Amino acid sequence: MIEVSARRGLFPKTLTVLKRIFETVKSLLQALLFPKVCIICRCASKDDICSECIKKVTVSPKRHDNVQDIYPFGSIFYYGKYSGELKKAFGRYKFDGEIWLGAAFGRLLYNSFREYFADYSALLYVPASRSGYMQRGFDQCKEVAAVIAKLSGLPIMDTLVSAKVARKQSRLGFRTRQENFGRFVLKDISDFEMQKYYRGKRILLIDDVLTTGSTVRECGQLLVERAGAERVDVMLIATGRADIKPF
Ligand SMILES: [Zn+2]
Repeated sequence: MIEVSARRGLFPKTLTVLKRIFETVKSLLQALLFPKVCIICRCASKDDICSECIKKVTVSPKRHDNVQDIYPFGSIFYYGKYSGELKKAFGRYKFDGEIWLGAAFGRLLYNSFREYFADYSALLYVPASRSGYMQRGFDQCKEVAAVIAKLSGLPIMDTLVSAKVARKQSRLGFRTRQENFGRFVLKDISDFEMQKYYRGKRILLIDDVLTTGSTVRECGQLLVERAGAERVDVMLIATGRADIKPF
């Protein structure tokens, strides 16, 4: 009996690892064979979304400043509406293991908002939950943020940590005791980093899709109240909310 349950426990994990390896090899081959493809139809394209597919997505890259009801700690940037082909492409990224799409989403955000990055001292991302990371094998916002960091030259910080991950790794010195009420905690920040990147500074937080806003509110609040940031703007691939105009 013990052997059977052990096997049962092992099998899905092995499958996840094999799937991950398969997707990585596929992504590498794809990158080698097709230097750049449209994220929607996969045609060879100089842009991440080709001229035909761009007509099928509702794209409206814009900074939204009057969003206090949804997010009181800064402005919200988003690339497009979470529907149709953009939603499908995001689903292939987050749920079907097409990790290569992360870099494309990062480029789309960077190219849409390149004039704003000089305003920030650091780039942070909403970390994947422990279960999400275990299922997918990668952190979807981190992949996107890493590309934006590379293109913009902003330092990328892993200061925000999923509370469950932090509890598992409490020996690493996370401040879990005082912050164990939410889904996220802040890693210890050195005085040097605090002065250079956080206290009184503007931070840019990368998330994937905006729905209720509770995730970014919690992260923004931690960074403003605990790390002393002046403001924390949020940059998203898409929003499912109709109350942030225009689409
Ligand atoms: Zn296309």
